[in-house]
Amino acid sequence: MNKIDLNGRCAVVTGGAQGFGRAIAERFIASGAKVAIWDFDLPMAEKTAKEIGPAVTAFKVDVSDLGAVEKTRDETLKALGKIDILVNNAGIAGVNATVWETDLEEWRKVLRINLDGPFICCKAVVPAMIRQKYGRIVNIASIAGKEGNPNAAHYSASKAGLIALTKSLGKELAQHDILVNAVTPAAAKTAIFDQLTQQHIDFMLSKIPKGRFVLVEELAAMVAWLASEDCAFSTGAVFDISGGRATY
Ligand code: NAD
Repeated sequence: MNKIDLNGRCAVVTGGAQGFGRAIAERFIASGAKVAIWDFDLPMAEKTAKEIGPAVTAFKVDVSDLGAVEKTRDETLKALGKIDILVNNAGIAGVNATVWETDLEEWRKVLRINLDGPFICCKAVVPAMIRQKYGRIVNIASIAGKEGNPNAAHYSASKAGLIALTKSLGKELAQHDILVNAVTPAAAKTAIFDQLTQQHIDFMLSKIPKGRFVLVEELAAMVAWLASEDCAFSTGAVFDISGGRATY
């Protein structure tokens, strides 16, 4: 593992109990940071924190609930002293269906967690970053947000929205030494697969020229760089990690 220096940095990783988020938390810890996992599955978040080590603290929060996020931000600031890094990773796939067969409630749920969630977490954390004149925000979008996936319009739309949020916030914060970037992974074999049909999983694999799914550690390495001071002049940018499933 190449060294990325996050010594002295304090990070929030939403949805850090498992999957990409856990790998990101592990990579941050290996790079010297302290980490707060924000996840609505508290037992799993606490188990993960225990397994990774004492520099990880678990908090139960639904990222789509502004009041709960503000409370958790305050608790995190009390526990860690500051928040230098925010990774908006928590997300759901939603039920695979065509647009016309998708329930309005299902559409709204995916948008609420995948797009309102990152907006709410940014809204809660950015003022403290502005006061300390430093921050790194990394949003976990998806290649689906650039290209659109059939039977996943809600998910694709939420990730396209997250890309636009990244670009807008990056411009708003460019003068504050707060960088905001997004990564767009192709599929990885995580628990999110449980929400997908086999047909959809096969479709996603067929779209990846490298012929395999991305590993969570591969994504975590890219996020760690974007969360570090080595990343100094990229903001509002979108980084593919899609095994060649590049679009634009
Ligand atoms: P996962 O299901 O393994 O983990 C997601 C975590 O988010 C879980 O611990 C869950 O409890 C938490 N979570 C979900 N909703 C939450 C909420 N409202 N508040 C707080 N926590 C919540 O998923 P993953 O595959 O690791 O995905 C992580 C991110 O990466 C998601 O945003 C996903 O859309 C994105 N992504 C995943 C893939 C993939 O194929 N796995 C591909 C591209 C992008």
